[in-house]
Amino acid sequence: MDQFSTNGPQLLLGGFPLSQLAERVGQTPFYAYDRNLLRSRVDELRSALPENVKLHFAMKANPMPAIVGFMAGLVDGIDVASSGELKIALDAGANPHEVSFAGPGKRDSELRQAVAAGVLINVESFREIDILATISQELELPARIAVRVNPDFELKGSGMKMGGGPKQFGVDAELVPELLAKIGEYKLAFEGFHLFAGSQNLKAESICDAQQKSYDLALALSRHAPSPVSFLNLGGGFGIPYFPGEKRLDLTSIGQNLMLLSKRASSDFPGASLVIELGRFLVGEAGIYVSRVIDRKVSRGQTFLVVDGGLNHHLSASGNFGQVIRKNYPVTIGNRMNASNNEIVSVVGPLCTPLDILADRMPLAVAEPGDLVVVFQSGAYGASASPQRFLGHPEVIEILV
Ligand SMILES: *Cc1c(COP(=O)(O)O)cnc(C)c1O
Repeated sequence: MDQFSTNGPQLLLGGFPLSQLAERVGQTPFYAYDRNLLRSRVDELRSALPENVKLHFAMKANPMPAIVGFMAGLVDGIDVASSGELKIALDAGANPHEVSFAGPGKRDSELRQAVAAGVLINVESFREIDILATISQELELPARIAVRVNPDFELKGSGMKMGGGPKQFGVDAELVPELLAKIGEYKLAFEGFHLFAGSQNLKAESICDAQQKSYDLALALSRHAPSPVSFLNLGGGFGIPYFPGEKRLDLTSIGQNLMLLSKRASSDFPGASLVIELGRFLVGEAGIYVSRVIDRKVSRGQTFLVVDGGLNHHLSASGNFGQVIRKNYPVTIGNRMNASNNEIVSVVGPLCTPLDILADRMPLAVAEPGDLVVVFQSGAYGASASPQRFLGHPEVIEILV
C-alpha cells in the first residue's frame, strides 16, 4: 500500500520500523494509526472541495479518543451516533455547535443529554419530535433540530445502502412536510436537513448524482420548513480501495459538483453551510492491524499461518462485516518487506471458528512464528466494530503514532 514506506525488511509507520513499534506497544495484536496520514487526507480533501463546504468526521468509523481528539482539531465538526460517542466528542474538545447526533433509536435519556449539550439532533422519527418538545420545555433550552430524510432514491454502487426504499433511518421524504409542521407547532429550533444515502462508494459519478438529488430534495422540502435552513448535510459515502482492481475515488469531480451546489446554495439557502460527513475515507487508510505468527502448519497441501489475532479484533478483514463475497484485505509480512511473495498461504486467527480468516490463499513472503502480519486499510470499522469478547482472548491495543 503506497501510503506507507519501508526501510529494508521493515514496514514503517510514523517513521518507526514495525518490529520496534511492536516492542513499544509491548504486545500483539495492535492497531496503529498514522497522524501524518490523517492530516494529509484532510488536506487533500480541503484542496479538492470548495472552501465553504464543511467537513465532518463521522466518529463511528474510529472512536478511539486520541483519534477523535486529533480529528476534532482538523475538521469542522464531529458526527456522533450515541451518548457514548457524544461524551468522547465533547471530551475531545469538539465545539457542540458543530456536533450532530444521528441514529434510529435514540433513547429519551440520550435526547435529553444532547439538548443539554447544545448539539444538533438529526431527528429520525415523529416520536423524537414529541419527546424533544417536552425536554425543551423542561430544560428551557430549545432543541436544535435537523430532519434526517429517508430519500426516495438510492446511492448507486454503494457497499451499504442506508437510504431509499423502506429503511429504519430517517423519516420518509413524503412524510417530512407533516413532521416539519409539527416542529413549527412545537417551536423547536429547526436548522436543516440531513441526508445519508450509503457507504463505501468508489464511483464519483454516483456520489455526485446522490448529492444533487439530495440537494434537490432538501430544496423541495425546505418550502415546508418553519424557518430558514442553516445546515444542509449531504452525507458522504466516500469509499476507499480494499480489493485488487479497486481504484481510488476521483475527488476532482466530486469537488466540481459540490462547487456547483454551493453556488446554488448561496441563493437557495442564504447563509447556510453545506456539510459532508465522512468516516471511513478520513481514517481508513491511515491504520494497520498487526498480529504475530504463532504457528505455521500444513494441512493436506495448504499452508496456514496461525496468528494471535483475527475476527475478534478485526471483523471487517475477516469478511464478516457486510461483505457479500469474502475477499482478502491487503496483507503483508511487515518485517519481511524486501522478500518476494513466494508462497500461497492462508492467515487465520486463534478462534475456534472457520470464519476466523485474515487472508485466504494469498501470495505472501515466507513467514515463521514470531513474524508480524499486517492488514492494511484498517483504520476504520476495526476494533470498535469487532466482537472482542468472543472466545475470551485479550483485547486489542490501539496507538496513534
Ligand atoms: C456510518 C455513517 C457515516 C460514515 O460512513 P462512512 O462510510 O464511514 O463514511 C456517516 N453518516 C452517517 C449518518 C452514518 O451512519
